[in-house]
Amino acid sequence: MLQLDTLKPPTEGQRIEVKGGRLVVPTQPIIPYIEGDGTGPDIWRASQRIFDAAVAKAYGGGRRIVWFEVFAGEKSFNTFKTWLPEDTLRAFQHYIVGIKGPLTTPIGGGMRSLNVALRQLLDLYACIRPVRWFEGVPSPVRRPDLVDMVIYRENSEDIYVGFEWPAGSPEANKLIEFVRKEFDWRVRENSGVGLKPMSAFGSKRLVRKAIQYALDRRRKSVTLVHKGNIQKYTEGAFAKWGYELAKEEFADQTITWQEVQDRHGGKVPPGKILLQDYIADVTFQHVLTRPRDFAVIATSNLNGDYLSDAIAAQVGGIGMAPGANVSDFHAIFEATHGTAPKYANQDKVNPGSLTLSGVMMLEYLGWQEAADLIIKGMEKTFKQQVVTYDLARLMDGAREVKTSEFAAAVIDNMP
Ligand code: NAP
Repeated sequence: MLQLDTLKPPTEGQRIEVKGGRLVVPTQPIIPYIEGDGTGPDIWRASQRIFDAAVAKAYGGGRRIVWFEVFAGEKSFNTFKTWLPEDTLRAFQHYIVGIKGPLTTPIGGGMRSLNVALRQLLDLYACIRPVRWFEGVPSPVRRPDLVDMVIYRENSEDIYVGFEWPAGSPEANKLIEFVRKEFDWRVRENSGVGLKPMSAFGSKRLVRKAIQYALDRRRKSVTLVHKGNIQKYTEGAFAKWGYELAKEEFADQTITWQEVQDRHGGKVPPGKILLQDYIADVTFQHVLTRPRDFAVIATSNLNGDYLSDAIAAQVGGIGMAPGANVSDFHAIFEATHGTAPKYANQDKVNPGSLTLSGVMMLEYLGWQEAADLIIKGMEKTFKQQVVTYDLARLMDGAREVKTSEFAAAVIDNMP
């Protein structure tokens, strides 16, 4: 039994475990959740109703999620006087899988982002963002139906490590002086400087996960996106290590674009996944103009950050984009947008991002039937043009509903 200082873990339900290199999910798993700040409680309430209804419908009482509320952000600060209690970290560590709403990032208080703290503690090295379109959802592109991509973004390296110093600081000056003396690199005076570390280990474990996903889900390609034409030994190395990893571990299942041209007349042989790489800048064009060329994208941290919001914009925006941060087994599923505080407690915003993050979580647990019910319920609701304000303002003839009413419609529309 998990011992916590301020929280009482549920007395019912069981812990998800890892045995023999696999996730073992009991019929009543305990899942810690953070409802989130601002609009978090509204979208959490709506999403939780949808998850529970789908699980009940799919398994008729044979399975059930035992929810365990843990705290972070404003609710935590108001109750426990800390933004991120140790108990919350321990609970996510112990129960393996968790879910969270958006959290306020306190500005200027010396507190780093709560999301980053959670990712670092559990070494959640892959940020996964699936992007697909639902019929009826307004889109700025002509063929949103062709958008069906999953982005695997490296989550632990790159400029996000935060190794940077402000212009004029003694540390920046020291670094500038060091590289001048050692390498004859001339950095302009009064420059801010930072490091961008990217390792073979970090890149390969991310690409491994992306290829494994493509194999499990029978997706046709994995595209390594990088800026290696300019940053050869970080971004360029990411692509090189990705190809190396595929050769070392997935030689029978993958084929490179070059091999397809040289040996197969430009056609990917059946049963193989195409492994290709694209420079980041042209990728932003191609995901718009040729979305069908992309299935799974594996990329470095900063590229992935930009790319996932840009692609999400094609299918309804960040109010609809789900996400997960995962390690080999630990996973925290989360709404990808912020707390939208101006709409807090109005029962107004779109719960789609958190709901679809829960769909990812159910798939991760192997509860595909429940996940499918939610997707079907959402598909039908969007087709009926029953939507929250964010989509209603972009549509003609839509029926605008509250967050809770949208949840009720999704539940009603589950087959
Ligand atoms: P935001 O909360 O994402 O909101 C920006 C705008 O996006 C909203 O004003 C709204 O647009 C739209 N939006 C966001 N969520 C929506 C939803 N569920 N349904 C419909 N529309 C939605 O970004 P922010 O205002 O920059 O950030 C507010 C706080 O959230 C900050 O403290 C920030 O640090 C934090 N944050 C947290 C996370 C996280 O926890 N993962 C991520 C990002 C930001 P309209 O005004 O056009 O209606």
